[in-house]
This record gives sequence, C-alpha cells and structure tokens, in this order.
Amino acid sequence: MEYEVVIGLEVHAELATKTKIFCGCAAEFGAEPNSHVCPVCMGLPGSLPKLNKKVVEYAIKAGLALNCSITKLGRLDRKSIFYPDCPKNYQISQHELPICRDGLVEIELEDGSTKKIRIERIHIEEDAAKLLHTEDKTMVDFNRSGVPLTEIVSKPDMSSAEEAVQYLERLKSILTCIGVSY
Ligand SMILES: [Zn+2]
Repeated sequence: MEYEVVIGLEVHAELATKTKIFCGCAAEFGAEPNSHVCPVCMGLPGSLPKLNKKVVEYAIKAGLALNCSITKLGRLDRKSIFYPDCPKNYQISQHELPICRDGLVEIELEDGSTKKIRIERIHIEEDAAKLLHTEDKTMVDFNRSGVPLTEIVSKPDMSSAEEAVQYLERLKSILTCIGVSY
C-alpha cells in the first residue's frame, strides 16, 4: 500500500504585547509564579474582560504580512473546555469570524523551487495557565493565563517533512521580523 503525505498545521504564536489580552497584567515570561495576576486572568466571578487593542493591531499586522484579507467584523467566542489550568471553564477565542482569512506563504525548498502554502485563517485567543507537577502535588501558575496568542491555520498544502519545516521557519521569520512575536 502506498501513502501520500498530506500536512496542514495549526500554529500557536504568542504575541509580543506588553500586557495580556483581556487585562493589564504583564505578559512577560519567566516571572515569579502568580506575580502577574488579577481577577480577570484568574477567572474570578464577576470580572469582565477588556480587549487589548495592541493584540488586534498585531494580529492584523501578522495577517497583512501573510497576505491575508482582514475582516471588517470580528467576533470573540467562548469555547468550553475543562482544564484545571482554566478555572472559568471556557477559553475566549474566535470561531466563525476570525480576524484574518485566506493568506499565503511562499516557501523555498532545498532544490531551489518554491511552493505556495495557503493559510485558511488566523484568529486571536487567550493562553491557559500552566500546571507545575512535583512528585506529590500539582500547582498552578496563572502568569500565562490570558497571554495573547494568534492561531495560524494552514490548508493541508504541505507534502513532506521538509516542506513543513520550511513553512514553520518562514512563519517564524516573518512574525519576528515584523515585531509581533518572539
Ligand atoms: Zn490579569
């Protein structure tokens, strides 16, 4: 039996904003656990999210650099999940109205040829918190809860591991070059 390799990738890229997506807490990595937290990013009852304008700007910038069309009407949705590192039991993401659609990345292969990889959509969402496991207990660090992400979904246009690697390297290089991710 012969198989054909078909690869589509969903890439989560953290956005390089100073603050989180729905509150004013710092989004920096590596701080003392639970030192960048507030009622919004800990999911406490009664707290209300407020969208960080910079997240929208950075996601649009990423979309333009990846040849996407930018939506005029975006929407954030609640996605139900049950994770111990997400106490409100939903993640705020985008379902039907993502911020960017129909993009294109051109990759260069070892033999010198190029290939176009289509991007289906880019949407913005919040990251979950982080669990830390020791031998006898599990602890949760909310510093990462609410850190902004873009989710970049490609079409299944790659047909080898080499193409997938080239695609990921190209994506990383574009996103870091325009300053929207690390
Ligand atoms: Zn916060």
